[in-house]
Amino acid sequence: MAGREEVWKHSRHEHGLRLREGLPRYRCSGCKALGADVGYKCGSCPNFVLHRPCADLADEYIHTLFPEHPFNFRRRTRLRHGCDACGKLLRGFVFQSSRGMRLHPLCMVVPVRFRHSGHRDHDLQLVVQDEGIYKCKNCDWQNTKWKYRCSNLDCGVRLDMNCAIVDTLRLSEYGITQVYKPSKLRRALGMTAEVGKVVSSAMVGVTPTVIGGGVRQ
Ligand SMILES: [Zn+2]
Ligand SMILES: [Zn+2]
Ligand SMILES: [Zn+2]
Ligand SMILES: [Zn+2]
Ligand SMILES: [Zn+2]
Repeated sequence: MAGREEVWKHSRHEHGLRLREGLPRYRCSGCKALGADVGYKCGSCPNFVLHRPCADLADEYIHTLFPEHPFNFRRRTRLRHGCDACGKLLRGFVFQSSRGMRLHPLCMVVPVRFRHSGHRDHDLQLVVQDEGIYKCKNCDWQNTKWKYRCSNLDCGVRLDMNCAIVDTLRLSEYGITQVYKPSKLRRALGMTAEVGKVVSSAMVGVTPTVIGGGVRQ
């Protein structure tokens, strides 16, 4: 971390920030998702902390999978929108592409290929195409948004964005199982990991205009 120990004047906050390691669980003041260990802390505001990507990413970002449509930083969206990658509500920092795609900063920077701690045999590969409802192997959530699919197609393993982020940032060591809160509507539908299984057949009737919802007909 040498060279970044000094206070960093940042365009996204009025005070200087310092990169820290070993931080306890926190809620990012930028994107409002959970984090732990690494983050930028404000020297003046006791509770101000940013995920590393929420501070480090330039205002324009080229995503590997969408090289022709740069994403631009916004502090927030004016209307309520869900993230196109994970389906969860955008509550703060967001990157928006010229085509209107909106992503959480963490959803934007997860690697397109990685080895999950719960599936050691093969790499998982990011798939952004809608292939219908899938169930995350790790948390049992059902979703139609972006997913990781095992590179060995015989495996059939699918993982959602939340579980990919938790694993790549090793947040489970800090007791974090999900970085984003489920949207209110989704909670109202009882789509938690536990009851999601029970209501899965009823969910087929959900309208496709759900904000942040993962279910589409
Ligand atoms: Zn953040
Ligand atoms: Zn501050
Ligand atoms: Zn997201
Ligand atoms: Zn999951
Ligand atoms: Zn596999």
